[in-house]
Amino acid sequence: MSKNKNSHLYAQIKTLELNLSKQKKISKALLTRVKRNLKHQININDAFEHNFFLLEQIKETKKKLIHEAKNSQRFSYMAKHDSLTGMYNRNVFNDFLKVHVATAQENMETHALFFLDLDQFKVINDTSGHLAGDEMIKQIATILLGTKKPDETIARLGGDEFGMLKKNCSLNQAMKAAESLLSTIEKFHFSWDEKLFKVSASIGLVIINNNTISDIEAQKNADIACYAAKNAGRNRVHLYQEADDSLLKQNAELQWVPKLTKALENDLFCLFAQPIKPTDPKLDYVHYEILVRLKEDGKIILPGVFLPPAERYNLITKIDSWIITKSFEWLAKNIQYFHQKAHFSINLSGQSLGNKSMLKLITALLDKNLFNGDRVHFEVTETMAISNLQEANSFIGQIKNYGCGFSLDDFGSGLSSLSYLKNLEVNTLKVDGVFIRDILDDPIDEEMVSSINNIGHVMGMKTVAEYVENEKIANKLIEMGFDYLQGNIIGEPRPLSDLLESIKARANKLVQ
Ligand SMILES: [Mg+2]
Repeated sequence: MSKNKNSHLYAQIKTLELNLSKQKKISKALLTRVKRNLKHQININDAFEHNFFLLEQIKETKKKLIHEAKNSQRFSYMAKHDSLTGMYNRNVFNDFLKVHVATAQENMETHALFFLDLDQFKVINDTSGHLAGDEMIKQIATILLGTKKPDETIARLGGDEFGMLKKNCSLNQAMKAAESLLSTIEKFHFSWDEKLFKVSASIGLVIINNNTISDIEAQKNADIACYAAKNAGRNRVHLYQEADDSLLKQNAELQWVPKLTKALENDLFCLFAQPIKPTDPKLDYVHYEILVRLKEDGKIILPGVFLPPAERYNLITKIDSWIITKSFEWLAKNIQYFHQKAHFSINLSGQSLGNKSMLKLITALLDKNLFNGDRVHFEVTETMAISNLQEANSFIGQIKNYGCGFSLDDFGSGLSSLSYLKNLEVNTLKVDGVFIRDILDDPIDEEMVSSINNIGHVMGMKTVAEYVENEKIANKLIEMGFDYLQGNIIGEPRPLSDLLESIKARANKLVQ
């Protein structure tokens, strides 16, 4: 029995041993497979990581390439465009101009070159700051680009200067295009800080044809023509013609320095007077504004030509001193021939207003008591008076002590100053002529002129409208309630000697 039992157990052990050995083999095989798989997995991971790295590198390179491409696009854009307006810049415009000049010379084509310069940019920059100036340039650029035709190229040449080229066009078409640019700009009113500015431009026009010598010559001529448009009173087109050249070359600003110095030394300036007439028919006197002219080779040169360079090269105070001294001398001799209530207005430039030696000169002349102080008024410009309010007021106050009056000249172009007006010790407001000119056609101008008149009256000032060129405008201004009118329809400026003669002649007639 026990032997049988033992053999059974033995058999069982053998079976177990056998199973165990099988299990071992299986386990070993499994282990080998796991190891193999594991090694494979590691290889896969390595490969994955490697590929991932490559991919990242590719991505990075691609990014760099895109960035570089964008950068080069941006650089090339920046090199060609003006950063403020997005318009073409001067370099690109010059390239286009060269092509236009070349095709005109080679193919007998006719093109037009326009130089456009804004008229009021300085006023806006001075009264409202550069941010306002930049914003106005941006808005003007948008308007110009909006009206651009497919045959036109337009660019900002710098500051407030724009250039335009028009392909294959006649003189007539070019003039029309220039006029249309002017009227587009004139219709635009720039608003900033709840203030409204009127904008206009001056355009120099040059026809490019097979006679055009070079692009540089064409640009120079466009510049001369633009300068001529400004001198002729702004907001206009001047077509360059050969005859302009010698005259306008003389006008080149730098040449004015020796000329003005010589004029001061040799008394080459002369004085004119223009009447300022009361609108009230019961008043039988007329005031006068004294205006300066320059005599040159028998010609009379207007102050719009020589005062800007005089101002730029700091000769203006000397010219003002000359005008004041000569006016006082003349008034001392001749004021007796004029109505007791008539006064003479003398313009004082921005540089003279607040200038200590100018104050000394004027008070010294007034101290001589040659005539009553109230026979003289001084006209100062709005921009200067408000940019230097304290000095201006102290200067004005000291001269007013002698009885002299003060007028704020060219009022309105920087309407920012309405709030300053309360603080300025002036007696009279003279509305800027640019508003008067269009009051019959432009309702905004009409409203502005009428408001300025009302504000002036509310503040106890007298109001004067300048540039009154025709009866209709005069009647409109009388209807608005202006106190005085000045302009060619009222009376043109004439030499003081002529004025005196006619006054004496009239007095003689009355006596007879
Ligand atoms: Mg004046």
